[in-house]
Amino acid sequence: MKKFFVLAAIIISVAAPQRLFAEERQRLLSLTGYAPIDTLDMFKLDIFALSHEDSVALLARLREQDSVMRFLDSVNRIYPSYEFYKESWDMSRINPYCVKIDSLPDSVYMDCSGFVFPTDGNRVTSPFGERGARFHYGVDIGVHYGDTLRATFDGKVRLVGYDRWGYGHYVVVRHSNGLESLMGHMSRALVRENDEVKAGDPVGLGGSTGRSTGPHLHLEYRFLGNAFDPVKLIDFEARSVRTDVGNEFLLTVEDTYSHKGVLAEMAKARYHRVRSGETLSHIARRYGTSVSALCRLNRLSRSSILQIGQRVRYR
Ligand SMILES: [Zn+2]
Repeated sequence: MKKFFVLAAIIISVAAPQRLFAEERQRLLSLTGYAPIDTLDMFKLDIFALSHEDSVALLARLREQDSVMRFLDSVNRIYPSYEFYKESWDMSRINPYCVKIDSLPDSVYMDCSGFVFPTDGNRVTSPFGERGARFHYGVDIGVHYGDTLRATFDGKVRLVGYDRWGYGHYVVVRHSNGLESLMGHMSRALVRENDEVKAGDPVGLGGSTGRSTGPHLHLEYRFLGNAFDPVKLIDFEARSVRTDVGNEFLLTVEDTYSHKGVLAEMAKARYHRVRSGETLSHIARRYGTSVSALCRLNRLSRSSILQIGQRVRYR
């Protein structure tokens, strides 16, 4: 029923700009090699530019032919989880969506059936959350070099990247349930952008590339670009998904994003880079604060020696 409403929403959005649907059709064919006859007809018709009467008639025809689901499958193969992400398919940025946590839907049920735990071991070596002046947006799981890392849900690979100072070799998968996962520090990726993956398919090999001190998998889950604590979704002990009803995971801003206050607090933080001869009292005077406030923010004592180039938080 939900899928039906998605189609209704697509068809009702007749005000959407003209699109080159011949191109879309070609993309559908070349990306997925999948294009049932009815779907080709739909793409020729440019559904975004149809009048309301025509779209109602088209819907009736599709229902007659029982191809609504097939059409939606096709749309979701080009744009996985179309319901939430629409035509966004950016293969250069991890978070291209610009959706703030407060703008997320208050609660969403996500189909988490078919979940596969990504690694052989389940030892969490570092949790999600504040890590000094930085925020750690995923959990780290201990692995061995060359271990197979697996997709946790069905989906399509949106981004395969390398970040020398951060995630190392990483893979972002858009899952059909609306989540995106990021796996980092791989020794290498085994998939390419636009590859379709099933839960359990190998996506990379364990490693320690990027900002890493030993082989581990950095596993991150995001919804519309916003990472949340994987522990809210996964029971690492049981290597399974925590679900509320059946296989449905209830994502809520209040619970799933309970760390949003910490992020807001950290976003306010400002830093001073220490220059030769500066002391805590110089810095305190410069920014109109006190030495004890600086000590508290930076976990320093009054007698701490500052290093040139050190970052001192003053707000
Ligand atoms: Zn990590």
